[in-house]
Amino acid sequence: MFCQQTAEVTRVEIAKGVLQFVFGHLSDSSTKLSALLRKPCKVTVTDDWIDAEGNYYPDSVVQMDANSLFNGTAAGIAVHRATALYTHSKDLISVPRWMLTGETAPRALLFHEMAHAAANEPDTDHRPQWHKEMNRLWKAQAPINLHDVTLGFTGHELVTKYGVGTEFWEGL
Ligand SMILES: [Zn+2]
Repeated sequence: MFCQQTAEVTRVEIAKGVLQFVFGHLSDSSTKLSALLRKPCKVTVTDDWIDAEGNYYPDSVVQMDANSLFNGTAAGIAVHRATALYTHSKDLISVPRWMLTGETAPRALLFHEMAHAAANEPDTDHRPQWHKEMNRLWKAQAPINLHDVTLGFTGHELVTKYGVGTEFWEGL
């Protein structure tokens, strides 16, 4: 799922590439965490809702559906809660504002997206290079979400083939 457009988006371009904005808000050593990352890239904080075209909308214009926290409409257009993603063509990580509460989760999702940046696998998500990078981060004790690479805890692609417990993962 790639973000097509970043109009209406609060852009936060990171000068030296690395997460100062996000980690800067958080209490502990951003420098140490940044040092774990193989490939710094741009990070943008977006509004919380996105339509099928990839346009973002702030909370203030979204009418939430009665029985869903994740779907709604903005001026008649169907929208859903945006998730964090890495757009290969722009070398850009987009993180919606709602995901930046707390500390552990935002950090984990940034590592997840940063692993995409390092993997250079634009066509399919979560291929071997991505798993390899997640494995490297895990071994370096980066606070990744191990569920991202563990079968039964994630719907991410190819975890059965390269994730925790597979020959590939064990061989890394
Ligand atoms: Zn991913």
